[in-house]
Amino acid sequence: MQKYDAAVVGGGIAGLTAAIYAAKAGKQTIVIEKQDRLGGRAISNKKNGAYFNLGGHALYKGHAHETFMELGVNVRGNQPSANGYGLWKGKLITLPTDLKSLFTTQLLSWKGKMELASWLMKFTKMDTHGYDRISLREWMEGNVRDPMVRHLFYSLLRTASYVVGPDLPAAGPVLRQLQNALNGVKYLDRGWGELVEELRKIASELGVRFITHNKVMTVEIRNGIVQQVVCEDGTRIAARNVILATSPSIAHQLVPFSEKTALQTWKEQAIEITAACLDVALRRLPKPKQQFIYGIDQTIFLTNQSRAAYLSDDGAQVISLIKYQGKENDPDEELRELEGMLDLAQPGWREQLMVKQYLPKITVSHDFMHINRRENPGPAVPEIQGLYVAGEWASHGELLVDAATASAKRAIQHMLHLEGKGRNILDEHRGII
Ligand SMILES: Cc1cc2nc3c(=O)[nH]c(=O)nc-3n(C[C@H](O)[C@H](O)[C@H](O)COP(=O)(O)OP(=O)(O)OC[C@H]3O[C@@H](n4cnc5c(N)ncnc54)[C@H](O)[C@@H]3O)c2cc1C
Repeated sequence: MQKYDAAVVGGGIAGLTAAIYAAKAGKQTIVIEKQDRLGGRAISNKKNGAYFNLGGHALYKGHAHETFMELGVNVRGNQPSANGYGLWKGKLITLPTDLKSLFTTQLLSWKGKMELASWLMKFTKMDTHGYDRISLREWMEGNVRDPMVRHLFYSLLRTASYVVGPDLPAAGPVLRQLQNALNGVKYLDRGWGELVEELRKIASELGVRFITHNKVMTVEIRNGIVQQVVCEDGTRIAARNVILATSPSIAHQLVPFSEKTALQTWKEQAIEITAACLDVALRRLPKPKQQFIYGIDQTIFLTNQSRAAYLSDDGAQVISLIKYQGKENDPDEELRELEGMLDLAQPGWREQLMVKQYLPKITVSHDFMHINRRENPGPAVPEIQGLYVAGEWASHGELLVDAATASAKRAIQHMLHLEGKGRNILDEHRGII
């Protein structure tokens, strides 16, 4: 039986990134994915000529973007205009995104305008690391005075991070995510599925082997050292290192006696972020100006991704709506809320509807850096030699796909470092993490 240097369980962005870095370092690498296709939550589906992600996705100028540039990934797409509206008390009001809109918006008093202007000038340069151990609420109460400026901040931070509620998230990571978002986001042509395909191609060229439609059932461990993974159809894949690029609960399930390892803590401390997502492809926009709306007194967001990306073969406009979910949610009520937002932004949209997709509750992130965390997961599972974790939940302060790529890279760097050959790769990529 061939023995791989690295077996990656899960072919989402974290798994693909880990596989590429392992293969780049000359390691015999295999990826095992349980679905028929690679990509995990970053797949796109084509329906009636329109490309839908699993809910609205934007690539921020953060770790993932830097990683993709470093790997030579062709990230096709464009930056959307930030001109938009805030939804406040049922009305659409110009959002203050630049000096002109700041002075004309009716959302803010003069005092509020002055405070926001000063934030606009300093926010993207602010060092946020000092706020990693306090909650977002504490940061907000200590730093932002005007109540409407606070509302605006909460709305922007929610959209950048998907985290609802200010008491749990550590402030620093969420503020950094907003900095990344304000530095520019990209909507991707033909959706994030294209990104997955690019990563697959790079991995294949580097010699990575893929098995799809086969679920890993267990990771065999002997004397505290990883031996092999066993798949549902009985296939056994021997490997010196296993990278679990799945959710924390699946990682926990796959490892015998995981309750005696750090996987137990990582599973227990995880707080899931979910959202309800409605995507629609419209023949034309009834109100072409109303393409970008932040809910200010509602945890809701609308964006026409077609204003910056190629998302339809016949010119349809693909609009993504997101309802950020807390603990309690009601799928029917949330669909009504999302459709109500569309009624307001694009009245008569039903007559223009070509196709839609509704995801009532999808996991956006299995975990994030919150103030009740006992430790940051990974990269290595300390009790088992050769076992690693990756995925957006294995964040050390990054969020969403940035955490997926950063954790994947950390896992491979750690693996190479332990093998004593990591010096070069660590030097080569210094500064990225
Ligand atoms: C609605 C929504 C909106 C989002 N918006 C953004 C955004 O705007 N910006 C951003 O940066 N990020 C966004 N994200 C997050 C981003 O999609 C994820 O962070 C990223 O795709 C996660 O990648 P991953 O590889 O960590 O996990 P996943 O994509 O979940 O990959 C895990 C893979 O493991 C496989 N697997 C699980 N168990 C097994 C097993 N036993 N054997 C084999 N395979 C297995 C799964 O099938 C899956 O393919 C969004 C996510 C959602 C859902």
